[in-house]
Amino acid sequence: MTDLFAETRAAFDLPEGVIYLDGNSLGPLPRAAAARIARTVTEEWGAMLITAWNRAGWMEMPRRLGDRIGRLIGAAPGSVVLGDTLSIKVYQALAAALALRPGRRVILSDSGNFPTDLYMAEGLVKTLDAGHELRVVAPEDIAAAIDDDLAVLMLTEVDYRSGRRHDMAALTARAHAAGALAIWDLAHSAGALPVDLAGAGADFAVGCTYKYLNAGPGAPAFIYVAPALQEAAQPALSGWLGHAAPFAFDPAYRPGTGIERMRVGTPPVLQMAALDAALDIWDRVDMGAVRTRSVELTEAFIRGVEATCPELALVSPRDADRRGSQVSFRHPEGYAIIQALIARGVIGDFRAPDILRFGFTPLYTTAAEVEAAVARIAEVMSGRLWDRAEFRQRAAVT
Ligand SMILES: *Cc1c(COP(=O)(O)O)cnc(C)c1O
Repeated sequence: MTDLFAETRAAFDLPEGVIYLDGNSLGPLPRAAAARIARTVTEEWGAMLITAWNRAGWMEMPRRLGDRIGRLIGAAPGSVVLGDTLSIKVYQALAAALALRPGRRVILSDSGNFPTDLYMAEGLVKTLDAGHELRVVAPEDIAAAIDDDLAVLMLTEVDYRSGRRHDMAALTARAHAAGALAIWDLAHSAGALPVDLAGAGADFAVGCTYKYLNAGPGAPAFIYVAPALQEAAQPALSGWLGHAAPFAFDPAYRPGTGIERMRVGTPPVLQMAALDAALDIWDRVDMGAVRTRSVELTEAFIRGVEATCPELALVSPRDADRRGSQVSFRHPEGYAIIQALIARGVIGDFRAPDILRFGFTPLYTTAAEVEAAVARIAEVMSGRLWDRAEFRQRAAVT
């Protein structure tokens, strides 16, 4: 391990003896976040009361933190803003994109997309009641399904179940050639691999901050609008903090300038304080180095599991270039296997119907841990240690 990743690992508060391979679902606690939240509570909320919106810079946080995330995803300053949840940001991006292609009616997505993205699109289509159609095809059929009907291509770059990665630049270029706009969901990309939104020509992008960015449960989402589209993009969720002059309390809505118009209402200050602390860790690292280490870890994991657990079938692409920073295997008893692993200190997760999912996060996961995780998985599989009633009891969150 290089000194860089030893340093970043020391920045996290991880429970002793646990190998955490689920940072793709909820990142662990950055040590500085707890103190930072406490300071925001006592020194800002407690001492400054409402004056903290100005004096502690709360009102600018969604933009300031947006710029900090922008550095990780190839977005120019002033093109990313924080707020709400990812589901809401998907809705906002899609509504704005559809309005920019008024003569067209088709939204194209894939069956590997996270259900909430598809649900939000379905809901928007119903609300608009203007004859839009959400067309969902298999991920490998996306390129061929892009045609001149298309209004918007809406994809998640890295599939939450399989870890399969789309070619953002190529598909965006294809969508543009067909006259459509492209929206990219970066839920499993931001902080997981290098992203170059400007270079790929993405029109809109959205993502969350509680997965690879480690800002904690309920942390706000982000939205990116390409600079060239910012003044034309109409915010469907026209909340007061996206207004050109929120404190003019004008009864009529006028969109704010640039990315500001994608704000909706009062931002979650305590969660943004956690995000601010979490992003300090990212300032020290280069995404290229993170990616190199991530590929090493995922390759070692695949090699180890395939060598010791023949009954687990690899779901993720074998070619690292086509994979995000997670590895998934398939087994009909996947849920019980994950529970047995958690009981032995290896935390991954399960996605219905049969996917065992493991996330790899170089900031705090070492090669030695990957090796130890493989050994524990091999023990659980060869000894059928998962085959107990208690491991089949389904909890609300899998
Ligand atoms: C995690 C994830 C979400 C979650 O949306 P929330 O509104 O934050 O709950 C949405 N889309 C994708 C692709 C995800 O991976």
